[in-house]
Amino acid sequence: MFKLRLMMLAGLLLLALPAPAQAKLKVVGTYPYIQDLVQQIAQDKVSVSSLATGDWDPHFVVAKPSLLSRLNRADLLIINGAQLEIGWLPPLLRQANNGRVQPGSAGFLDLSNVADKIQVPDNVSRAMGDVHPQGNPHFVLSPANVPKLADAIAQQLCQLDKPQCKSYQQNLKSFRSRWQQAQARWQQRMAPLKGAKVIEYHRLHDYFLAHYGLELVGTLEPLPGIPPTPGQIQTMVQQAKAANVRWNIRGVFQPMGPSEHLSRHSPARLLTLPHDVGAVPEAKDIFALYETLLKRLGV
Ligand SMILES: [Zn+2]
Repeated sequence: MFKLRLMMLAGLLLLALPAPAQAKLKVVGTYPYIQDLVQQIAQDKVSVSSLATGDWDPHFVVAKPSLLSRLNRADLLIINGAQLEIGWLPPLLRQANNGRVQPGSAGFLDLSNVADKIQVPDNVSRAMGDVHPQGNPHFVLSPANVPKLADAIAQQLCQLDKPQCKSYQQNLKSFRSRWQQAQARWQQRMAPLKGAKVIEYHRLHDYFLAHYGLELVGTLEPLPGIPPTPGQIQTMVQQAKAANVRWNIRGVFQPMGPSEHLSRHSPARLLTLPHDVGAVPEAKDIFALYETLLKRLGV
């Protein structure tokens, strides 16, 4: 009798629970900008997280066990690609042993396939230690690439989650229109900086500089990923003086020493710029990332 009552009680409790919602799609992006684009498009319809944080060196993310468990449970993995993750993701992906998100499966999206890329070499070789063997992977810093990335994400979400497709498409449309308006404002604000000369630590903001017509004079790294040598730093000091370079740009994760040296010995002003959502606290989403870039450039 007691047992029966207990069963009835359990039954009533079950009835009182809300109808089980269909489990949300679990999406993992390698970098925070990917997480943000997914959120812009899916809003609360999926659960999404980023493996890396925005202030880490994107080429060398430290693999913590928590990354592995998220990869293990994911339904969709979205990567930047163009070998930006080559130094840290492949072993994690092997260990995660999750067939849904392996390259080539339905739950895997490589954004480099839809982005316009610059600095793509004729022959691929890492013999020189170059960390950009498939072209420059920092393409999210071209505002023209962002809608293409958003399109690809919406399309992938639709394939994996057909019931919500209409909502994804509506959010994509709204995102694209807000992006277009923001881009028009940024274009105007950046116009006075056209032709301004810049030296970078790493080829990190090349897409942004190229899009707005700033002129890259050189980099402190002799090759992407090769630390600055005394000779290369001296060459950049001379070029900064000769060409009256305005800015000396470094990413938040790069060592300060070589950039400080350059600014101490030349007119180029040291400027630390975010490269991803979350690289600095005010770059809260993809719009704020671009806003922060413009503000730090003084426009
Ligand atoms: Zn790089």
